[in-house]
Amino acid sequence: MRLRFTARALVIGDRDGTVVPDAVLDVTDGEISWAGPATEAPPGGDADVVDLPGVLTPGLVNAHSHAPMVLFRGQGEGLPLDRWLREVMWPREARLTPEDVEVAMTAASAEMLAHGVTTSVEMYFHPERIAAAVGSTGARTVIATPLIPLPGLPPIEEQLRHAVELARAVPGDGTVEYGVGPHAAYTVPLAVLRETAAAARENGLLLHLHVAETATEGADLLATHGLSVPALLAAHDVLGGRVLAAHCVHMDDADLDLWQEHDVAVAHCPASNAKLASGVAPLRAMLDRGIRVGLGTDGPASNDGLDLLADARLAASLARLAGRSATALTAAEAFWLASGGAADAIGRPDLGQLAVGRRADLVHVDTRALAFEPVGDPADLLAHLVWSGGSRYVRDVWVGGRPVVRDGASTTVDPAGLRADIATRAARLAAR
Ligand SMILES: [Zn+2]
Repeated sequence: MRLRFTARALVIGDRDGTVVPDAVLDVTDGEISWAGPATEAPPGGDADVVDLPGVLTPGLVNAHSHAPMVLFRGQGEGLPLDRWLREVMWPREARLTPEDVEVAMTAASAEMLAHGVTTSVEMYFHPERIAAAVGSTGARTVIATPLIPLPGLPPIEEQLRHAVELARAVPGDGTVEYGVGPHAAYTVPLAVLRETAAAARENGLLLHLHVAETATEGADLLATHGLSVPALLAAHDVLGGRVLAAHCVHMDDADLDLWQEHDVAVAHCPASNAKLASGVAPLRAMLDRGIRVGLGTDGPASNDGLDLLADARLAASLARLAGRSATALTAAEAFWLASGGAADAIGRPDLGQLAVGRRADLVHVDTRALAFEPVGDPADLLAHLVWSGGSRYVRDVWVGGRPVVRDGASTTVDPAGLRADIATRAARLAAR
């Protein structure tokens, strides 16, 4: 099956912010087989041609999410974190059924696709139901099966065994990938973290955990062990392999040195960190050290959107404010953090850029709006996309060359029906 797209421009999703005007992109069997200026394109042959008035970008990659928490969106608004968890989130999560998770992930996945997000890294209960949900919507996901000692859950060693079995059982077709998601160093015993990391390395799995989200979460560990959480993880052989650490807000130079040394990637979640007043992560320092960084929304109960492009704008704004410099993060870098950079961060070189051999996850942004003028240089399109355009101009989305959003509407699921279902389930979960 061959498709040829023509577009006003291609936004490649690389670190340099390459924009190719008057472009052609060919798709063969779900992969990008050619991308570049129309004047240099090979003969189209028998390919079906799709003419697009706007720009074509890579499908965005959300590096950290708990998307089924759309069930809890806005709940506990304004409460401090500890009360928000104890009084609002945990009682609801204790009542969650597998069906709740599947319906919620289906709705959230459709919402992400409508925002141009084609892949998300998920850490949430009932991972098989998350996989089933993206099977309905047509998105991709990397599911870091959560490992956390909680009442009502199996012992954590058993959780780990199950997570590794699940990861081994799935065919590697690039649609659903399983990793392991030990929640954090302050909730999961160090011995289990060490064992999890060994299993992840042995099986090539993504190990995803929360690190240094708040200023105080590592205080007990520091008092007991005399080490920061990054140093403690290094000392217990948790780093190395495909490690993706969410947040990393409160990191000093020595911690960043460890991330650089062990090639630990970061899921930067500026919207969640701002909403929960956690702080501003040292993004520029990470990038200058060559640390791999991708943007994440975090869960929709702590963002509350699933709009990664909005978070790219916020990432640039916060980096500039924190550095008191308008050059602290360019629009091109902000977009890269949501696309090519995020794909690198999660260890998926098949995603995130419009480049030959990568999967044809494509987003068409309609640029026939005042928000996209003027364009003196093709790069202006990318700047407008980040600063004035945003995801409300996303019109069409393809995953592996398959249309999943057409003219702003899902082609795979019924968002109105899902919304009603979410409302009913959320009311049941909130009932005391
Ligand atoms: Zn999280």
